[in-house]
Amino acid sequence: MTENKNIAILGAGESGVGSAVLAKAKGFKVFVSDFGNIAQKYKNELNHHNIEWEEGTHTVSRILDAAEIIKSPGISEKVPIVKEAVENGIPVISEIEFAARYTNAFMLCITGSNGKTTTTLLTYEILSKAGLNVGLAGNVGKSFARQVAEESFDYYVLELSSFQLDGMFNFKADIAVIMNITPDHLDRYDYKFEKYIASKFRIIQNMDRSRKLIFCNDDEVIINKLKEVNPDIELLPFSLSKKVQNGAYTENDNMIVKYDNNELIMDIRDLALQGKHNTYNSMAAGIAANVLKIKKDTIRECLMNFKGVEHRLEPVIKVHKIEFINDSKATNINSTWYALESMKKRTVWIVGGVDKGNDYDTLIPLVREKVKAIVCLGKDNTRIHAAFKGIVNDIVDTTSMDEAVKAAYYLASNEEVVLLSPACASFDLFNDYEDRGRQFKAAVRNL
Ligand code: ADP
Repeated sequence: MTENKNIAILGAGESGVGSAVLAKAKGFKVFVSDFGNIAQKYKNELNHHNIEWEEGTHTVSRILDAAEIIKSPGISEKVPIVKEAVENGIPVISEIEFAARYTNAFMLCITGSNGKTTTTLLTYEILSKAGLNVGLAGNVGKSFARQVAEESFDYYVLELSSFQLDGMFNFKADIAVIMNITPDHLDRYDYKFEKYIASKFRIIQNMDRSRKLIFCNDDEVIINKLKEVNPDIELLPFSLSKKVQNGAYTENDNMIVKYDNNELIMDIRDLALQGKHNTYNSMAAGIAANVLKIKKDTIRECLMNFKGVEHRLEPVIKVHKIEFINDSKATNINSTWYALESMKKRTVWIVGGVDKGNDYDTLIPLVREKVKAIVCLGKDNTRIHAAFKGIVNDIVDTTSMDEAVKAAYYLASNEEVVLLSPACASFDLFNDYEDRGRQFKAAVRNL
């Protein structure tokens, strides 16, 4: 019998096309299928590599002819073609699982409900400033598979979402990082938080004693799951409240990162990224860098000078002494909690969009303390009104970014802040959170 060298790829975005390029280079017969439209630049690339593709449909017979299917993380496991593949016993894997077979690079992998991108970029910055031959991939930037095909990095810093982790089976991380676990994307997990937690914990599967897990010791969900699975991996916790042996913690105004008697101490007020959530991010990146024996000066310099990431508590400009902050990436309650928590001045808060089943109650103490007025920006704001009625006097409805920014500007006074931190997805009024953030910045600049 001849070996089946057919590979089908579902979804022709960055990860799918990258996988196609790698699979072709490795001698597979590749077929790319996208139920939607494929961007022209990707069509050109597939054509350039002589890779067959289709759009607007899935030709089931061809897809089920594959020995293996690589699925884009954006496609739910519940769509008919994926279900059919699974019923036919065809392995459905993610780009990361596939590409990792073709590299021996050191894998530093970061997951969590919030803070993945920030921590990934921060860690990558430290490693590259230290002169390591390092690639950045996963949920950010160029596809991992494409880089495995075209580059030869010794290290990768990978941002992994739960959707990517769901398609990973034999992959083995060298260092895994779990930032936090709070309810998100539950629609893809049968509304069972336990399933989402299990998905995040796939990041440590196959790891052994020689590998390391960096995790938040203040996160009860992580702690409870660790007790349950009791993995035989070196554990490196970080905490804002408890001293730890190896890992990182804060004491007074200092952040202390420790590994094997190698200690780095920094004043948290010197960190480029401010706010408790960002101290967690700096600690996680600091531990990873410390484990890799990167010079303290390099780590310190990067943690002090990191420019931050667009749409994550990004300062825009001040207009008549009113500061505008773009936190459009805050698409769930937890990230907005940290945004409000880090506000040092009275705040006019722009919130709303597609509510994924938010529990606004956890925000009430912070809102009571810091929020002067609420500007709702969404098609349906009833849940926001219900949650904060009686707590904030001024709650207004708007349905466009221009209107929201003007209303917020009108409500704010000198030395106050206007914060866009929606706690919701953006798809009711915007293409995505980036579009929402860009429109916010443009509207602010137009004031
Ligand atoms: P992710 O890639 O996991 O979505 P990002 O770094 O893009 O994370 O940040 C998403 C949102 O969460 C932003 O609003 C950001 O300010 C906030 N955030 C960043 N780090 C954390 C953290 N450690 N805990 C909670 N929220 C965070």
